[in-house]
Amino acid sequence: MENKNLVVGAGFTGAVIARKIAEELDEKVLLIDRRNCAAGNSYDYKDKETGISVHKYGPHIFHTNNKEVWDYLSRFTKWHYFFLKPNAVIEGEKVTLPFNLTTIRELFSPKMADRLEEKLISNYGYGIKVPILKLKENEDEDLKFLAEYIYENVFKNYTTKQWGLKPEEIDPTVTARVPVYISHDNRYFQDKYQGIPLNGYTKLIEKMIDHKNIELKLGVDYKELKEKDFKRIFYTGAIDEFFDYKYGELPYRSLRFDVRTLHKEFYQKTVVTNYPNNYDFTRITEHKYFLDEKSDKTIISVEYPEKFELGKNERYYPISNPENQALYEKYQKEAEKYPNLHFCGRLGGYKYYNMDLAVEKALELFKSLS
Ligand SMILES: Cc1cc2nc3c(=O)[nH]c(=O)nc-3n(C[C@H](O)[C@H](O)[C@H](O)COP(=O)(O)OP(=O)(O)OC[C@H]3O[C@@H](n4cnc5c(N)ncnc54)[C@H](O)[C@@H]3O)c2cc1C
Repeated sequence: MENKNLVVGAGFTGAVIARKIAEELDEKVLLIDRRNCAAGNSYDYKDKETGISVHKYGPHIFHTNNKEVWDYLSRFTKWHYFFLKPNAVIEGEKVTLPFNLTTIRELFSPKMADRLEEKLISNYGYGIKVPILKLKENEDEDLKFLAEYIYENVFKNYTTKQWGLKPEEIDPTVTARVPVYISHDNRYFQDKYQGIPLNGYTKLIEKMIDHKNIELKLGVDYKELKEKDFKRIFYTGAIDEFFDYKYGELPYRSLRFDVRTLHKEFYQKTVVTNYPNNYDFTRITEHKYFLDEKSDKTIISVEYPEKFELGKNERYYPISNPENQALYEKYQKEAEKYPNLHFCGRLGGYKYYNMDLAVEKALELFKSLS
């Protein structure tokens, strides 16, 4: 195994590391993934019946301000330029998210909306994002009312569903960091670079790992590998699993998607609709919008948050609190005993990363290799 590297996991993190080592160090890389496909949680596939690209693990929109990351990925894909403009159903009406001046106009009478808009702009300025906690501290009764309204109607119940908490268990100081955007900019993200890979995420990743020095083996779990004598190992799987849960399991939140093909052209007016207050699901994604794909049918996925249970479902969101962070640090300490073993990615780092941050961290890790 002289001069060979092992990368475990063919998501964004693993793919970037594998490519950099293969291309720039001219070293051999064995890249494995226990799934039968590359691309990790950004995996998408074309539905055979409709030709619509489906984001299997939830809606993925690429967005970044990091030009290095954007340029790097642009070597492997062209982009469909795309801005996420979701809706939320509040009091039965589909309104604009993020909560901004347009949303205020959609929810309140013109007179009330004029008043709120004027007060927000004169207190904080146009184009500013004000956390609702800060808004609540304002002496003005209208602004206090607005903060309370947003907390109750947009965030409280959504957070309860998303994290499986009772309303009284939600720490309002955490939830209240969510801002009101004093703007008519209806885009969910304001990053400079935004888009969906023109041929999908899976094709992007497949192109990245298509290199003479990379050997890809799908359907292979790290635990099944007999030969583990590698110059370097990059592990993008769960760190607690790697160490056989010797200190206990790191908790995650999971999701279940009810994917349906409908015999109508469109189901909803935009790609994602959030349901903060009604039903057990949190949102519905209509996949044809991502790449503006045409079909007389449509595919939606209804998203239900649920508890992560080993062997039953997938790890989605790390549950971030001091206790879990302390447990993660125990594993991290254990990992330090193995200088050639690098834990990385969202599971290795037990942290939620957007795709751009996963790429950025992988590029940084590569630069740090001696
Ligand atoms: C619902 C949802 C929506 C999201 N939407 C966005 C978005 O809109 N925009 C955005 O930028 N980011 C989004 N993300 C984040 C994005 O999914 C992550 O940034 C990305 O998946 C991180 O890539 P990764 O390579 O670190 O991990 P992963 O994609 O999870 O890849 C890890 C891979 O390792 C493999 N693996 C694990 N253990 C083993 C093992 N023992 N042996 C072999 N293989 C193993 C897994 O099968 C997996 O393929 C979203 C995340 C979620 C949960």
